Amino acid sequence: MKYLGILKPLFNVPHQWIPVRCVQPRYCSKSANTTVSSREKRTTVGKFKNHIFSGPTFQDFIKGLNNNNHNKSFAVDGEHSDKHDYLPEHLDMGNSRKVYFETYGCQMNVNDTEIAWSILQKKGYQRTVYLNEADVVLLVTCSIREKAEQTIWNRLQQLTAMKKKRLKTHTPMKIGILGCMAERLKKELLEREKLVDVLAGPDAYRDLPRLLTVADGGNQASNVLLSLEETYADIMPVHHAPQGYSAFVSIMRGCDNMCSYCIVPFTRGRERSRPVSSILEEVRMLSDQGVKEVTLLGQNVNSYRDTSEQQFCGSDPTRLSRGFKTVYRLKQGGVRFSDLLDQVSRIDPDMRIRFTSPHPKDFPDEVLHLIAERGNICNQIHLPAQSGSSQVLKAMRRGYTREAYLDLVKNIKQIIPGVSLSSDFISGFCGESEDDHQQTLSLIREVGYNVGFLFAYSMRKKTHAFHQLQDDVPAEVKQRRLEECISVFREEAVKVNSGLIGSTQLILVEGESKRSAEDLCGRTDGNMKVIFPKEDVAAQPAESGTCPNGHEKMSIYASKSKNSI
Ligand code: SAM
Ligand code: SF4
Repeated sequence: MKYLGILKPLFNVPHQWIPVRCVQPRYCSKSANTTVSSREKRTTVGKFKNHIFSGPTFQDFIKGLNNNNHNKSFAVDGEHSDKHDYLPEHLDMGNSRKVYFETYGCQMNVNDTEIAWSILQKKGYQRTVYLNEADVVLLVTCSIREKAEQTIWNRLQQLTAMKKKRLKTHTPMKIGILGCMAERLKKELLEREKLVDVLAGPDAYRDLPRLLTVADGGNQASNVLLSLEETYADIMPVHHAPQGYSAFVSIMRGCDNMCSYCIVPFTRGRERSRPVSSILEEVRMLSDQGVKEVTLLGQNVNSYRDTSEQQFCGSDPTRLSRGFKTVYRLKQGGVRFSDLLDQVSRIDPDMRIRFTSPHPKDFPDEVLHLIAERGNICNQIHLPAQSGSSQVLKAMRRGYTREAYLDLVKNIKQIIPGVSLSSDFISGFCGESEDDHQQTLSLIREVGYNVGFLFAYSMRKKTHAFHQLQDDVPAEVKQRRLEECISVFREEAVKVNSGLIGSTQLILVEGESKRSAEDLCGRTDGNMKVIFPKEDVAAQPAESGTCPNGHEKMSIYASKSKNSI
């Protein structure tokens, strides 16, 4: 059965010592990764003793429990927390106050929003989609590039102006920053700019009700501690997709790769994986609700390794893609990504499974064979290259060469014929020469991606590149190289996507096309966006058994290359 349609590619811590309530064992980001000399240790122990002697007594602690007088937030050693971490349970209830969320950045932030909302909902908050009726405005933020942060600063100015106006008429509005920017810019946000009431880092969402209660007393409140274990495994996110056909499921958090340009390991902490059982439970629940597509999420999703159960903690080392290496000692034991993917995909054969964002080092052959064999695991792989030059890749500390990357692409194409590939590239990284840039262009041509995400390099504090390398490519050169990459990407994507003309594709219908009420919009297995006339589907319903509910089969007869990335 054939349907006609048009293929539209989409390129797309405190002044005095206080008891800290810990839901799970946590550590401070600063101390966790630092090697401490014995002299430093002695100084730290000395400081620690001083803190204890000058800190609150047990009576102070009891007082803190019994009265509701909150003090201002404070900072010691660059870490923020606030006094009176203990509050009687009933005080951190939402009392039907309305929360408005704005989510910026990647899919992980969409999922974080769902987790934060799930936590607040249980405490009696209500959610609103209208900013003007919100009692609490929470921005879920991204720090990956300077531009992403600037967007949030601008938004904070607008919200602060709105808050001042509102003061005269309404109950006071509280503004909170959640996620990566809270982690990275705690001092600036709280002390210098004084634009926010609440700060919660990516591992502190469970503390949000308490933080909001502290803020209600007219004080700033923050928790930006990173955890070695938090995966929010027991929190079922409240999925908020408008059409409800598709959902994100977080399977791991944090990243151990330490690519030299990247802030993620500093804002989101160390890698940890959510137990298999809790992931399977969530996917089953989504399947029962009729969800037709699940995207497994993680900063380095395919380095998933569940060590929660003793019997899986063997000694076999994690297998990597051939020719790839890690910046850390190879990890051992645990349930790996291929095992998880296998189990998730067996839950509902009519449910599409995707995953993002992977690292090219974690594609051992068993993962590729599983994708090829299992009908509902999409034949689509995101394979972030970042550069086509081995020299730049070395400076980026990516753990592979151009040649190893191209060998992996060849291997993937052999094992998964017709696979749809996408990638991330950074233009103008420290020391990138014109020749390096040309090698990136040639790699883009050689691979032939369907979709791309291209960025100009943005220097981030704390990273290896910030400390050790020179951001020496002028802004205009970065921009020119970026544009050249975009243009070559488009040319190649048009060629690759044109190859789909005449093919019959299974489409998961997402709804009406934004441009015309006459058309429907959906995605192929390879994640290509497709627009096709409604009547074709109405006239020729899918054969039962071949096309699950929400999916339609259509053949592609024309390709339009609209802008993309
Ligand atoms: N974990 C994924 C990987 O290794 O490919 C990437 C996740 S990162 C959140 C998304 C993309 O942002 C990266 O692949 C990279 O291309 C880009 N990116 C990260 N840091 C950047 C920086 N400092 N400047 C420009 N782009 C950056
Ligand atoms: Fe950042 Fe590299 Fe981790 Fe991706 S793998 S999140 S680029 S450090």
